[in-house]
Amino acid sequence: MKKYLIMLMVFIMWCTGLPVATNYISENSVFLSDNAISEAESIEVEKTQESIFENSYTSTFEETSVAEQAESIIETEPVNTVRVYNYKTEEIIVMELEEYIVGTVYAEMPSSFEPEALKAQAIAVRSYIVHNILYGDRESGHPGADICTNPAHCIAYTTIDEVIEKYGEVFAEESFNIIRQAVEETKDLIMTYDGEVINSVFHASSCGFTESCADVWGGDLPYLVSVSTPDESSFYSYYGKMTFTADEFKSKFASYQCDFSGSIYNWIKNIETNSIGRCESVDVGGVTISGNTLRELFGLKSTKIKITINFDNIIFETEGYGHGVGMSQYGANVMAEAGKTYEEILKHYYTDVELEEISLEWFK
Ligand SMILES: [Zn+2]
Repeated sequence: MKKYLIMLMVFIMWCTGLPVATNYISENSVFLSDNAISEAESIEVEKTQESIFENSYTSTFEETSVAEQAESIIETEPVNTVRVYNYKTEEIIVMELEEYIVGTVYAEMPSSFEPEALKAQAIAVRSYIVHNILYGDRESGHPGADICTNPAHCIAYTTIDEVIEKYGEVFAEESFNIIRQAVEETKDLIMTYDGEVINSVFHASSCGFTESCADVWGGDLPYLVSVSTPDESSFYSYYGKMTFTADEFKSKFASYQCDFSGSIYNWIKNIETNSIGRCESVDVGGVTISGNTLRELFGLKSTKIKITINFDNIIFETEGYGHGVGMSQYGANVMAEAGKTYEEILKHYYTDVELEEISLEWFK
């Protein structure tokens, strides 16, 4: 019989691991396109912003630095506001906290999700923002601002105009009202651990278990440990698959000293996974690459990775979406569908936290 060598050296790895990163990265914009905000609210928000700007600034952004703008804001703003850096317009805007939360929850979770999941999201967002206000490093990334609208750096934010333009007023108003209700019904509620507001990071979807903060970023936060999550495989973006040619694969490692001289089947070795099956590290061309770096280099959805090599192609298959730390948004919805309350959802994903109202004392 003829010998056809058609097949497969299949290299399979279930990795996990995300390398140490210096910033907590929010990756929830996967839901960004699903929501909207009403025109009326848009006008209201804009008016608020304009009046604050008029009081705070004497010159345009082009004429003053972000830090200079911030100084004038700090002198005039009340305590229940947040300084938001709009990465698209490169401006710092001062917004009323609860109003800003509406725009972020809107951008982070579809209004079609269960009410209890939306409430959990509102509290997670509020805690995240307040944590940034209280403990964030204002000189990092966007000097003078507490937070930014870039979902790759902080969390997403949707303006009313963007939603109306995309989906029309009817959808915008209906979905916005749903989000606003979730925010209002949890007004002022935040999560604390040992008396401090928590850094309530979250992600779109997990696979079996969430990740610990320690495994992903190296910081050991007791409320961000790995916990179970319900079956999320019905999430439309749960499975991922990306295929790269050998040349495409090699080009991603241009700044590394990888040795790609041998067979493609020998390029990838020693895939290390953590206890929940995510890629911790892998040797690529003799260089050890963390799972998180691998994910970033190739734009993979998660670090639960299966790698297959087939002739000239390297195929990544993933499960879950996002860094995996904190609340799984889709998991929260699955829990809500099963009858769990927002408090039960949050206390499941954030270990040993308490829910309490924001104290204005914290801001002084
Ligand atoms: Zn930011």
